[in-house]
Amino acid sequence: MKAIAVTPARREVGIIQQEEPKISKPTEVKLRVLEAGVCGTDKEIAAFEYGTPPGGSDRLVIGHESLGEIIEVGPAVSRVKAGDLVVPMVRRPCPYDDCLACRSDRQDFCFTGEFKERGIKEADGFMTEFVVDDEKYMNWVPRELHDVAVLVEPLTIAEKALSQVWQVQQRLPWSCPVTPGKERAFCHKAVVLGAGPVGLLGAMALAANGFETFVYSREPAESPKAALVRSFEATYVSAETSSIQDLAEKVGNIDLVYEAVGASQVAFEVMKFLGNNGIFIFTGVPGRKAPIEVDTDLIMRNLVLKNQVVFGTVNAGRETFEVSIRDLGVFMQRWPNAVRALITGRYPMEAHRDLLLGRSGGIKNVIQLH
Ligand SMILES: [Zn+2]
Ligand SMILES: [Zn+2]
Repeated sequence: MKAIAVTPARREVGIIQQEEPKISKPTEVKLRVLEAGVCGTDKEIAAFEYGTPPGGSDRLVIGHESLGEIIEVGPAVSRVKAGDLVVPMVRRPCPYDDCLACRSDRQDFCFTGEFKERGIKEADGFMTEFVVDDEKYMNWVPRELHDVAVLVEPLTIAEKALSQVWQVQQRLPWSCPVTPGKERAFCHKAVVLGAGPVGLLGAMALAANGFETFVYSREPAESPKAALVRSFEATYVSAETSSIQDLAEKVGNIDLVYEAVGASQVAFEVMKFLGNNGIFIFTGVPGRKAPIEVDTDLIMRNLVLKNQVVFGTVNAGRETFEVSIRDLGVFMQRWPNAVRALITGRYPMEAHRDLLLGRSGGIKNVIQLH
């Protein structure tokens, strides 16, 4: 069977031939991979910035955003059956007994850093025809979401962030009042930085969860992306015509910032305008550049005097995948065209070069494996 792999030692990216995997443990399942999404991480691996092959191998099959169909199950499998659609989790636990997170099936919070990630770190990914894995990493997806379910994995970034927001903000009165018989009123305002797939999915999640949502990004206010943002009831503010100060004046008290640009300068600039009891979430991983100047006195002052919280978040556990699948269903009921518009192209495996190495446009491009 074919797979898209990188060989870092030889700086090669291409299609390789591999033996089809077989079920070898009673709790394993075999998937026919239907689709794999291409994201910035895949491009960075294809540029050899990171990505580690599995032990004993010099090549890594890439791809971590996927949708598959179960075609075979081991004798002890009970959670899924042949014919089911599933989105597999990405991270696999570290082996250490004293890692509280991994031993509680929360490898997304692994303490040791010795976890594996399919398609990224020491485990082959999903840009291949067939995959075998333990059923505990499978997340069942309803059939009606088949054409958008490849977005589940990138949506988990926002959903894990939101579940932490609910937990952290429980330390103060934060729930918006609900008047029976009336439509739920917005009472918190969120700003999303960036309009890539992570930002747009984050904005949808925030809008669906009752936030008055603003997306701040470079594209002009007349761009298709801006129109897409407006189509799911969020407000688009273009950095081309509005400064960060303008943005802050437009929003009022910024209750939440969801950073999805991976650029620290703009992020810390926006942090200066975070509101009372505000919460700031980092999801981007900036490449190391030269130090920048940051107004630390103002930021520290605000953190204290305005009861603010700043946190970073990565990866996701099973519960977050389940919430993401549920919320994707909600998005599809409310804004089906906007969700479908996030997937801007479906390509055969042979197109991987342009998608990984070229400057392919669009929002989320997908490789079809079957
Ligand atoms: Zn990704
Ligand atoms: Zn661990």
